[in-house]
Amino acid sequence: MSSSQLLSRQNLIGLVDSVDTFIFDCDGVIWKGDNLIDGASTTLDFLRSKGKNLVFVTNNSLKSRAQYAQKFQFLGISVTPDEIFSSSFAAAMYLKLNNFPPQNKVYIIGGDGILEELRLAGFTAFGGPEDANKTVDLKQNIFFEHDKSVGAVVVGIDPNINYYKLQYGTLCVRENPGCLFIATNRDAVGHMTAWQEWPGAGCMVAAMCGSTEKEPIVVGKPSTFMMAFLLNKFNVSVSKMCMVGDRLDTDILFGQNAGCKTLLVLSGCTTQSALQDPSNNIHPDYYTNKISDMLDLLDA
Ligand code: PLP
Ligand code: CA
Repeated sequence: MSSSQLLSRQNLIGLVDSVDTFIFDCDGVIWKGDNLIDGASTTLDFLRSKGKNLVFVTNNSLKSRAQYAQKFQFLGISVTPDEIFSSSFAAAMYLKLNNFPPQNKVYIIGGDGILEELRLAGFTAFGGPEDANKTVDLKQNIFFEHDKSVGAVVVGIDPNINYYKLQYGTLCVRENPGCLFIATNRDAVGHMTAWQEWPGAGCMVAAMCGSTEKEPIVVGKPSTFMMAFLLNKFNVSVSKMCMVGDRLDTDILFGQNAGCKTLLVLSGCTTQSALQDPSNNIHPDYYTNKISDMLDLLDA
């Protein structure tokens, strides 16, 4: 069993020398909920000053890239929308790159971010926040109508998930064998607020798996779709990339699946004891407490 090394000055120097693109996970690495993690901003500035490309990848589909750009700006970090990859955007890119017919509609169980990204990409998307208050009265023995031109159902974190949305999505997938079932991500939990974990998209996706008896196409981390998209867009080679994240089964696996270097930070959801637990079989190359340890190690 391979194990991970605590990041040292020597291996950090080697890493910074050999890597030209750092992919940063967001929650647990750059911020926690709406709070910036100590030293994150200066660490990113430092890496930029060394000429490194920075890419920010988040599985949280609640926001679009433009909304994330505002969040970065609010936290005092300068990024361009082009450097941000949210799972909401990944869902739109998946449909685009797979030539999803624009005349087909997309039903959403999820938030604003997915709706916005799909519409920006030219698709007719509906549901999500628009169906937040819809209910079904089963006592009335109703016939539930749904739009037969729906060719894809996209499921992400939905704080307003309800039985109406589940019935809508389920009918689309069950009654049309060609209808795609796409999950933005399957994170079990997320930091909807700064201090606690809350049910993540994995919970909504599992509900749809149960009712459709199908498995989704996952477009966020750790899927290879997202990585292939990034590699193609930035024209970089995996040997010159490092994935920095706080979750083993999304971030670190995402980097390892592609074959790039991986750095786990303990500022998010993974503890050192979970990393070193014998039942864990995902081992990053390196681990450290938080990204600003890079500055401390280099005395920058
Ligand atoms: N999904 C939800 C709903 C979240 O709240 C979070 C983190 O806050 C995530 C996913 C994970 O986001 P990231 O990939 O940036 O760690
Ligand atoms: Ca994270």
